[in-house]
Amino acid sequence: MFVDHARIFVAAGDGGNGCLSFRREKYVPRGGPDGGDGGDGGSVILEADKDLSTLVPFRYNRLFRAERGRHGQGANRHGRRGEDLLIKVPPGTVVMDETGSRKLADLSRPGERWPAAQGGRGGRGNARFATSTNQAPRRHEEGRPGEERWLVLELKLLADVGLVGFPNAGKSTLLSRLSDARPKIADYPFTTLTPHLGHVTAAEDLSFVMADIPGLIEGASEGAGLGTRFLRHVERTRLLLHLVDVSPMAEGSPVRRWEVIQGELAAAPGGLAGKPQIVVGTKIDALGGGEDRPDRLEALRRHCAARGLPFVAISAVSGAGLAELVRETARRLRRTPASPRPGDEAEADAASLDGTSGDGGGPEGTGA
Ligand code: GDP
Ligand code: MG
Repeated sequence: MFVDHARIFVAAGDGGNGCLSFRREKYVPRGGPDGGDGGDGGSVILEADKDLSTLVPFRYNRLFRAERGRHGQGANRHGRRGEDLLIKVPPGTVVMDETGSRKLADLSRPGERWPAAQGGRGGRGNARFATSTNQAPRRHEEGRPGEERWLVLELKLLADVGLVGFPNAGKSTLLSRLSDARPKIADYPFTTLTPHLGHVTAAEDLSFVMADIPGLIEGASEGAGLGTRFLRHVERTRLLLHLVDVSPMAEGSPVRRWEVIQGELAAAPGGLAGKPQIVVGTKIDALGGGEDRPDRLEALRRHCAARGLPFVAISAVSGAGLAELVRETARRLRRTPASPRPGDEAEADAASLDGTSGDGGGPEGTGA
């Protein structure tokens, strides 16, 4: 479901032909050569774009052709060069050759670019070939063809921070508030099964990837349905934000709900319960004036303090506590060493072995 694999065809533009032409003017008996050059063809360029997080769009659109260069014309008019075609891919996209065995590029940082297919050079027009001994050259060149090839894209985007919590705890809302990603996932099938990822910029030198991982609690640890697939994503994260709704909208006490999720994490494979965690009390704008108002929030705060767990109270609606949460998250991340990106080992092997990359190390494959 989570597409992290795509095959695309890229074709750069052909160069325009050089022109064969001689000046013709009424009173100039023997005009010189004036055939202009053809324009270069446009190149196809891949660029990592922070607003993208899946390769899903490449399921529907797989052929990419840059504009060709225009032919040269008489009167020394050069053909216009073809426009480059920019293909946006999510950061973390690894580009492999057609067979998927050789790594060609790794677009890990937003803004990084890679020329996928070089535009063909434009041919020279006959004006270029005039010499003192040959004043009427008929020689002119064809444009060169643009490069074209199939490429395999693989997304190895990993979340540094995973959001866990009951449905309706406010995970999606928080992600959309904090991250600059606005993946348009709603258009695609299986929306609810897609882990939503976004880049959060914490400081000039620190941005991290946050994943809203739905379906964790719905029997995930027993391996029901999609559960374990997403658990694998969570397993790779370095830090969990455990969201607990402290508003009266949620049933039962926040402490109790924290414990239930904690139990799920403990039962899940991969040592999730032992991961560094920040407990996040959510929806404090909606605490209401009820009698238990301070209790719900404070009980959870005390509960965390007793366990040495960092606690931050936020409202994704009013924005309260969000800056503090990002700061605290960044602080914890700096302390937690990055785990190796899955597939990196496999990639090293891939070059020498059979070229398949990672067996389930990375995000989910294309399978249903
Ligand atoms: P998720 O299931 O954990 O992803 O929860 P959502 O982000 O979808 O939020 C569930 C509901 O809570 C939605 O109706 C949100 O609008 C609402 N919600 C989320 N954050 C806040 C908040 O800070 N304050 C209030 N009042 N409502 C919130
Ligand atoms: Mg959600």
